Amino acid sequence: MKREPRGYGSKLSLFGKRGEVVRAFLGTHLVRSAARFLHDCQLRHTTTPGQRFVTFSFDDGPDPESTPYLLDLLDKYRVAATFFLVGEQAARHPELVREIADRGHRLGNHTYHHADLWRSSTPDAIRDLRACSRLIDSLTGEMPQCWRPPYGHLTGPVMTWCRRQGIQTVLWDVLAPDASPRANARHMVSSLERRIRPGSIVAMRDSPVVVGQTTIALETLLPRLLLAGWELETLPRPTPLVRAA
Ligand SMILES: [Zn+2]
Repeated sequence: MKREPRGYGSKLSLFGKRGEVVRAFLGTHLVRSAARFLHDCQLRHTTTPGQRFVTFSFDDGPDPESTPYLLDLLDKYRVAATFFLVGEQAARHPELVREIADRGHRLGNHTYHHADLWRSSTPDAIRDLRACSRLIDSLTGEMPQCWRPPYGHLTGPVMTWCRRQGIQTVLWDVLAPDASPRANARHMVSSLERRIRPGSIVAMRDSPVVVGQTTIALETLLPRLLLAGWELETLPRPTPLVRAA
């Protein structure tokens, strides 16, 4: 008689009687939990027919080698963006934080130490978030009303805490292709043009590593969008945002 390979029986059970239990669990409890978990993530704005606006957001700053270039570029086209600041960067460059706010942009919280929530305890993550918000408040007189988790890594307890504090959790629906070593400005423009749709939230980086290609790309993209009648919005926006799940 032919012997079954080791583990064959247990694999089969996924499709047998016990498999039904697994599938039932995946189809109900887990999916419902995930949906509840994702309910508070904001990916893009809702729009009504005919509305064409987009939010550009910049993570990881401020940085003296990139932020001023982005601010000058945004000024040139008289548009506002949202900057998700890392607390320790903000503490190093308080003058830049004030300048971003003074030039009419919105500030969001990107945690104090660029914390990966999947590697942090909930109390540590909350401490990190709170420290960043307090720093931004002390520099600008305004608490940030939104935050973006580094790497997009979220946990339920932290999101619940943020909701109770009245802080919106904001992700993105368009991620600028600025992390790839092959990325260049032309590729960035074509990728963004292809993916931006009404209500999009575009995530880019405020970093010296990519600011060259980002500014060249935006020099092309912004006038095109404005000429075509698009408006740029900041976060948070009073209209409800499209939520995940
Ligand atoms: Zn980041």
